[in-house]
Amino acid sequence: MTAIWWCRRDLRLRDNPALCAAAEDGPVVPLVVVDPALLHDGARPREAWFAATVLALDEQLGGGLVLRRGVPVDEVVAVAREVGASAVHVSRETTPFGRRRDAAVRAALAEHGIDWVETGSPYAVTPGRVVKADGSPYRVFSAFQRAWREHRWPRPARLPSEIHWNAPSGGPDEDVREELRAAVRSCGIALPAAGEEAALAAWDRFLADGLARYARDRDRPDLDGSSRLSPYLKVGAVHPRTLLAGLGPGEGAEKFASELCWRDFYADVLHHHPESLTTDLTGALAGLEYSAPGPEFEAWQRGETGYPLVDAGMRQLLAEGWMHNRVRMVVASFLAKDLHVWWPHGAAHFQDLLIDGDPASNAHGWQWVAGTGTDAAPYFRVFNPTAQAEKFDPRGEYVRTYVPELRHLSGAAALTPWKLPGGYDHGYPERIVDHAEERLVTLEHYRVAKKS
Ligand code: FAD
Repeated sequence: MTAIWWCRRDLRLRDNPALCAAAEDGPVVPLVVVDPALLHDGARPREAWFAATVLALDEQLGGGLVLRRGVPVDEVVAVAREVGASAVHVSRETTPFGRRRDAAVRAALAEHGIDWVETGSPYAVTPGRVVKADGSPYRVFSAFQRAWREHRWPRPARLPSEIHWNAPSGGPDEDVREELRAAVRSCGIALPAAGEEAALAAWDRFLADGLARYARDRDRPDLDGSSRLSPYLKVGAVHPRTLLAGLGPGEGAEKFASELCWRDFYADVLHHHPESLTTDLTGALAGLEYSAPGPEFEAWQRGETGYPLVDAGMRQLLAEGWMHNRVRMVVASFLAKDLHVWWPHGAAHFQDLLIDGDPASNAHGWQWVAGTGTDAAPYFRVFNPTAQAEKFDPRGEYVRTYVPELRHLSGAAALTPWKLPGGYDHGYPERIVDHAEERLVTLEHYRVAKKS
């Protein structure tokens, strides 16, 4: 019987258990539904990245991808009935949005006697599977990681030697293709090469050139010491299990596996606490005083805070739809602890602009910095944006790449323009707040919140 393979965050052919399961059922109809809730007007980088990845998959299939635009509950059912499918195969979705959407589609398919089959997930270990002995979820990363490593993960799924692809004739596919192309054209940033082949090529390059120095250089935005695979993982152009299976022994490999574990951990936390997408995971800081986002928040968004590393990061985000992890922590800390703005405002801005914008990693990356998440006692950790710059961009190269107004300052001088005559000669803005003062304000806010 014909089976539909409905791809959402698993836009690849290799190591794809849901596709394998569909292929075992019979002829496979590969379907992508462009949901207006996710691809609204195509203007946001992450929409363009999704569009580019769908187009790459379509090309891999020789233009055979079935494309529909609309609400999945209508479109999936319509295509399933059109092709006489007995089942719709997916990889399991565990985000709050994905769960709601899938529950609706599943119920609508059931009304027509069409099966819903979930196989695998976008994670090495499906969220919800690693639990404590008493069945409760982990809240602490180190304990989760131990259990995650003990649990292990399945070997990558083999691509079936022969898949009988099928597609209904007619349909609005060409219109949807054109809409996807328009989203790619109009996003205003240079996207990386999209799709599975590009993901695997990036992985090969990292294995050859980056992994051996990863443990040492991953924190260095000036050295490009990380894999930059997060956009591919976000859309499932490559599965984390493929990456884990390709790692040999060594310090770099160990560290890289543990970063992939963070990704699984945060997905697990969100699975158990869906409300933590937009609110504090713990109530410990519930009484904390925040400032409403205003002109300083907008200066932060534009990369005009007067703190070079913060501004370089925010401008990298605007230019590339991506930011280095160390700098994400620094800019997030600046918003939460120097400008005293509640983390969901920053997370929403990131989610709009990041091409790897992932609800779980984003919300919990922010909560880790803000001190409201899974970490035990981080409220006193306030990143000093200048000390961080001196440690992780010691020659000022990352800053000069993204902040042209500081390019006339050589070496580390670009990190402290206020110390130099001529530091502001090319229009770089003065610091919008005094970090030392704001740090004390934050610590006082925390002291009051902890007491209440
Ligand atoms: P590498 O260092 O090469 O790591 C390999 C992979 O491990 C990454 O691609 C990613 O999938 C995973 N990983 C690494 N670090 C983390 C981490 N701290 N948490 C979760 N997974 C991790 N990551 C996202 O994928 N999407 C987001 O929306 C996102 N938002 C973030 C927001 C904040 C405030 C912070 C502090 C971190 C956020 N991260 C997010 C985590 C991290 O910054 C990125 O995964 C990383 O920068 C991606 O670059 P890379 O692929 O070169 O990472």
